Amino acid sequence: MPDVISSLTKPLVLVVEDEAALATMLRYNLEKQGYRVEEATDGQEALTRIAEAQPDLVLLDWMLPQMSGLEVCRQIRRRSATRDLPVIMVTARTDDQDAVRGLNTGADDYIAKPFSMDALLARIRALLRRSNSMPVKGQLTFHDITMDLASHRVQRNGRPVHLGPTEFRLLEFLMQHPRRVFSREELLDAVWGPDIHVEPRTVDVHIRRLRKSINATGELDVVRTVRAAGYALDTEPV
Ligand code: CA
Repeated sequence: MPDVISSLTKPLVLVVEDEAALATMLRYNLEKQGYRVEEATDGQEALTRIAEAQPDLVLLDWMLPQMSGLEVCRQIRRRSATRDLPVIMVTARTDDQDAVRGLNTGADDYIAKPFSMDALLARIRALLRRSNSMPVKGQLTFHDITMDLASHRVQRNGRPVHLGPTEFRLLEFLMQHPRRVFSREELLDAVWGPDIHVEPRTVDVHIRRLRKSINATGELDVVRTVRAAGYALDTEPV
């Protein structure tokens, strides 16, 4: 059964794709699932459409004329207004290293061409859920970190910390279970959802991004890597 999307809150997806046939197919299928769709055919147009239309999610082709999808993603992350905008990178490359490169520039997820529409829709739903859903309201605290779930604000030592939607959910989950060690698979189930197939090493990329945001220079690394086991939120030395 497809997720029911209220017509009042139909999410807007910006499809950035220079292949007209693929863009048309994506629009048709996304609209059928209840999403609103905007299109852009190159990177510059994408950045303009993002500023004007304020989409809820960007489906970003890697191989674009002039500016690559990677560069578009970097620029999205560089601007404060779009720093948290969910981005799924669409790539023709199946190389794992490329996928990791895409994630490192700030994409929240990636999907390789050719993909099934069902797989893409599952990833879109999961990412929108990560960026919107707040099952627990209130505040979480750990060491010198506070997380306000209602306002989506994170502070460390009084300093604001900006996190992407995936890093926010990851930190939220770890702060709900401090000092407990979770395997990559457990984190994937908890944060991405059990119906999503993601490579376990994707967790490593997001942990790296979380560390980069949460640990300022000279601050204690609160994310502990437990060799062969996984990760925990902890202040004990490794
Ligand atoms: Ca392309």
